[in-house]
Parts: sequence; C-alpha cells; structure tokens
Amino acid sequence: MPSAEVIECPAGLASAPVVESYPAHQAALPGGLVVSRALPRAGRRLVGPWCFLDHYGPLAFGAGKPMDIGPHPHMGLQTVTWLIEGEALHNDSLGNERLIKPGQLNLMTAGSGISHSEETPSRNSGRLHGLQFWVALPGSRRHGPPAFDHYEELPVVVRGACRAVVLMGELDGARSPATAYSNMVGADIVATGDDDVRLPLDPSFEHAIMLVDGRVALGDRALEPSTLYYLGTGRDAVTLAVTAGARLALLGGEPFGERILMWWNFVARTPEEIAQARTDWERGDRFGSVPAYAGDRIPAPPLTPRVQRSS
Ligand code: MN
Repeated sequence: MPSAEVIECPAGLASAPVVESYPAHQAALPGGLVVSRALPRAGRRLVGPWCFLDHYGPLAFGAGKPMDIGPHPHMGLQTVTWLIEGEALHNDSLGNERLIKPGQLNLMTAGSGISHSEETPSRNSGRLHGLQFWVALPGSRRHGPPAFDHYEELPVVVRGACRAVVLMGELDGARSPATAYSNMVGADIVATGDDDVRLPLDPSFEHAIMLVDGRVALGDRALEPSTLYYLGTGRDAVTLAVTAGARLALLGGEPFGERILMWWNFVARTPEEIAQARTDWERGDRFGSVPAYAGDRIPAPPLTPRVQRSS
C-alpha cells in the first residue's frame, strides 16, 4: 500500500528528452508481500497518467499464500494487474471474481469508489512474479461508476528481438482493448535475442522504463534493476540494447494536466476528499464489501494532515 502521508503530484510539465533514474524502494503490502515500488518517488510522481508501479517477485513458495491483501478501497484511479509468473485471485464489491494468469490483464476502474481483495489462490503453481500499475483518472471520469474488466487477448508489437505486449493505450500503431481515459502507453517488453532495437514512441508523451529482468542498456548505460528511468518528452523512439530473456516495463502518456493528491489507495484533488473517503471506508458504506474474501477488511491508516510536497 502507498504511504500513509498525502503525496502531492503536480500537473506534468513539458520537458525535453532526459534520462533521470529513480531507485525503487521496498514496501511490504498487507499480508506481508514485499514489493519494489518504482512510483511514486520523490522527484517523480507521475509519468503521463501513471502514478504507481509495484514489482513483486520472482519468488517460489510452498504452503501458504504470498499475496493475501484483504478488502481495501480505491477511488480516482485504475489498477492494472499483470502477472509474469503464477496466479492471483481478484474479488471485488461489484461481485466480480477473477483468477488472473500470466498474459492476461486485470483492469479495475475505481471511479467514485470500489473495494477489492487480491490473493494467491489455494490451487497455485508455487510461483509469483508480477506488476501492478495505477493510472490516475481524469476529472471527467473520476466520479463515474466503478468497473472491472479482464482481457485475455492483447496486441503484440514485434521490433527486432523485442516483443512488446500493449497493456494500455497504444504503441507503434497497436492499441490495447483495455478501456483508457487519457492518451497513454503501457507495455511489457521481452527480448527474444540479443539486439539493438529502436522502439517508436509518441513524442508528445513522457515515458519511463523499468528493467524487470535480465540485461538491457539505454545507449551506453546499463539499466539497473529496481530503478525507474524517466525519459522525458519529445522522443520519437528509444533505442535499447537488449539481451535474450530480458524484460522491461514501458509506461508513458501525455503529461497529466491535473494536480492530484495520493493517499493510501486513493487518488483525489483535495485533502477534504481524502478525509471523506477515509471516513466512508471506516463507516463501511460507499465502497461496498467483498464477502467472497475469507478474512478481515483492511482498516484505513491514520490520516496525517501534512502534505508531502513534490520535490
Ligand atoms: Mn488494490
């Protein structure tokens, strides 16, 4: 879960092509799963509409469930869940129950409010490796109804030895069927060989990449693991020196034109909205319930009035 401190994410400013690196930090989710959190970071809150990125695993386990996140609320964002290995079971307050496997996308649009649980199912492969992204919803959609979608077929872009699955938005003319509310790209890129690959980008977007596995260089710079590389705007392509088996996450979008506040699992615009959402979750109304989950809901952390300004 994100910091319990309110984080200010100012509206994106146009920038030039840059390479800025932001090491991820480790965080423990409810239930104990340790993740590498690449967004938000001090100095880099947003990449287009993308406001959150967790990477977990790869890990192997015997008994038990490494992912066991009880019912918790969201608002103002979409959660984008993508597994590389293993499986996860989603249940939500709309009554959706969905097992997700590698190659499939779970997209939950919180809108004005939803709650869900995420857990390792009892029948599992004993492996877990995945990514969870959040997309900030624009003002025109953030008060709308909650929704949940599952996609099993996603477009693939092949450029040289890179195979990119388009999770959200559009890459090189291939558009994901997943419902997006602003112009963006999110892709999972795997190298099938050693190659220098020129991947076309939308120059009006800002972009970032994160190495998930293996070895990749950006120009003559070897990418460090667990690090977000912000690439700025104004690029019509990025050239990557990839080695077979390497994996990258690519995220980007038009600089998000709205200043947002993040607290816990909420994306808002004002501290008052956050306080109201916290009260609504603690009262048990508005965000519904997840009776399919056998366990307790997650209480909201204390809300401190301090806002952590962007730096
Ligand atoms: Mn969640």
